[in-house]
This record gives sequence, structure tokens and C-alpha cells, in this order.
Amino acid sequence: MSNTQSIEKDAETSRPVVKLSGVIKSYGSLNAIDNVDLEIRPRELFTLLGPSGSGKSTVLRAIAGLVSIDSGHVHIKGEDVLNVPTFKRNIGMVFQSLALFPHMSVFDNIAFPLRMRRIGRGEIVQKVAESLDIVRLPDIAQRKVHELSGGQQQRVALARALVYNPSLLLLDEPFGALDKRLREEMQLEIVRLHREIDVTIINVTHDQVEAMILSDRIGVMNHGKIVQVESGEDLYRRPKTKFVAEFLGRANCIDGTYRDNNGDPHVVTSAGAAFSVAGNSDVSDGLQCTAIIRAEDIELHEARTDDNGLTGIAAKVELRLFEGEAVYYELIVDGLKYPLRVASKTSRFSPGSEVWLAWRAEQVWLVKD
Ligand code: ADP
Repeated sequence: MSNTQSIEKDAETSRPVVKLSGVIKSYGSLNAIDNVDLEIRPRELFTLLGPSGSGKSTVLRAIAGLVSIDSGHVHIKGEDVLNVPTFKRNIGMVFQSLALFPHMSVFDNIAFPLRMRRIGRGEIVQKVAESLDIVRLPDIAQRKVHELSGGQQQRVALARALVYNPSLLLLDEPFGALDKRLREEMQLEIVRLHREIDVTIINVTHDQVEAMILSDRIGVMNHGKIVQVESGEDLYRRPKTKFVAEFLGRANCIDGTYRDNNGDPHVVTSAGAAFSVAGNSDVSDGLQCTAIIRAEDIELHEARTDDNGLTGIAAKVELRLFEGEAVYYELIVDGLKYPLRVASKTSRFSPGSEVWLAWRAEQVWLVKD
């Protein structure tokens, strides 16, 4: 490879596949997309995660060219796509409504985008077969779509989205309507597929577990804005806001004042409950903050422990739910307006029991209010 070729190749592999800058899309007075900047890296499996109505689908549709934006720019592989119609953006899409033709054969469904592109018969036969192989349904080309199971239909929709080798695959909650087992199966299928073929995937979901299982990085959305972009683990462990903390898993978010008297950092709530935390360079003495403690990071003990590494608080069990792999408790703490939530392996505490909640100070994550 010549020097110039190699420089071009490097630029190709490091340049974002999709770049949104200052994108705004409003419907009346509502900003469905509110000044979004976002870069999706080559071969990344990226998920937009957020509550219903936060703007995830609108971002996906803006990338696909299915909605026009009011301002800002969308670049795909370096090209501003403002005037590029959807079918020329080389994007595969699977939405929740799979939009398959139920009375047509699997073959004809998958061949459809190729016929639209006026590809010859021989190549169509070959590409449909390859694409059915990718989704592991090699033998069903002649079946009618309405005869297939829900999971098989999902795979056919995927095969159709991949048949013309798009460089970008957009998934808009395609597994939302599936039952839990099938949904998990399809999630693993996407992970496998992403490993095997050269494609960048942008997925949309409101399911935080799905987002964490699938994604290299997650962009959390709220009210049309992207509030944090990080790997699932970083989002979970180091959320920048209470919203992000509460959206990912079960977090206890306790508002209070940070105190750092004599090198013993702790948080005091307005009603007087106090507990130790690890120091944090973001907060200083007297600052209002939120202490975030994950439900699974809190231990339940019968009485105060002697372990110096642990900090804690007295509590009373209000609710106990056996969940199989964990027991979920809600516990009342004097001076806290809301119960603390704990996911514990210990199942012996029933409602009404007095207990000691313990955790390591360094497991508390502090965010500024
Ligand atoms: P999400 O995918 O996160 O559920 P959407 O992107 O679908 O959210 O919608 C974001 C906001 O924009 C919502 O308040 C929704 O009602 C609004 N919206 C989306 N599409 C339209 C439309 N075609 N007309 C009016 N409002 C819309």
C-alpha cells in the first residue's frame, strides 16, 4: 500500500461513520431533537437509550433521512446528506413494525430492495442466499412470511436490511414486541452478527439491560438532548446526573450536603441522616449533592458491623420481594423521606425487622445538583 493510500485508509477507519452537529428538529413548540451533537465510530454498536418520547426515533429517522431537520448537519461517511434521499444513504433499517409483505415469499421479501436497485436475477439469488445464511435461516426462502414464527420474521427483516451490504444498520426497537426469551435470543443474534459482518449499528431502545448487553457505547437521551455518552459500565458506575443513575438499574439517589470535616467526608440529608462517602474532587464542603448507591452494593446485617471498611445506617424492612437471583428489599431510614432499595442474596429479613445497612464509602458516587 502506498503512503497516500495508507493515509486515506487511516482517515477512513478513524472518521465517524455518522456525525450529527447542532441538529434540531421541532414539532410546534416541542424540540424532538434539541441541539444534538453525536459521533458514531466505524463498526461501533451504538445504542440510543431513553424514556419514551425522549427523541431517540427522531434522531434515527433524521440519520435515515425519513424526517427533515430544522437546523444542523448530518454527515454520513464525511458527506453532508442534507440533499441525499434515504435510498441513496446506503442504510439498512429494521423497525418494530417489520414492514414485511406477509403474503410474499421470504425470497421475494428479501429480494425486494435489490429489485428496486435493478440488480440482475443471478446476483439477487446469490445475495438472498448469503443474507439468509447470515441470519441462520438457510432453508426457508420459498416459505410465505405469514407462515413464519415471530422470531423467524425478525430474522427475515434483518436479512432484508442487510442484503445490499449497507455500511450502516439502524434498529428502532425491533425486538420491543417480542416475548422475553425471543428478545434475548435476537439480542445475542445482533451481537453475533455485528462480530461477523462489517457494519456499524445504531440501535434504539428504552430497555437499559438491552442497551448494556449490546452496546460498545450508549447515548442516553432525555427531552430531545443527549445527556451522556459512555460505555454501559461507565454510565452505570459514573453517571453524570441523577437522571442517568436512575435510568440505569436500581439506584438509591440521596440528596444532601457534602461535609468534609477533618478528612471524614460524609453526606448529611436535610432531615439529618448522615453517612460516610469517599472523597470526590467534584464536590467541596457545604455543596448540595446527590449520593448514588447501587441497590446491589448495600449489604444487609442484623446489627452494626465491626468492619472498619464499611459505613452504614440503621433501617427497618418495609417490603421484601423474592426475585430468584436476589431478594429485593425496601427499607425505611430515619431522616430519609423515601425508602432505600437493596438487592441482596440474604433472604432472612421479613417486613418489620430492624437491620443495619452497610456499604463501602468508595461505592458511593457523588453528583453535583
Ligand atoms: P422516542 O423514540 O424516544 O420514544 P420520538 O423520537 O418518537 O421519541 O419522539 C420525540 C417527541 O417528538 C415526542 O414527544 C413525540 O410525541 C414527538 N413527535 C415525534 N414525531 C412526531 C410527529 N410526526 N409529529 C408531532 N410530534 C412528533
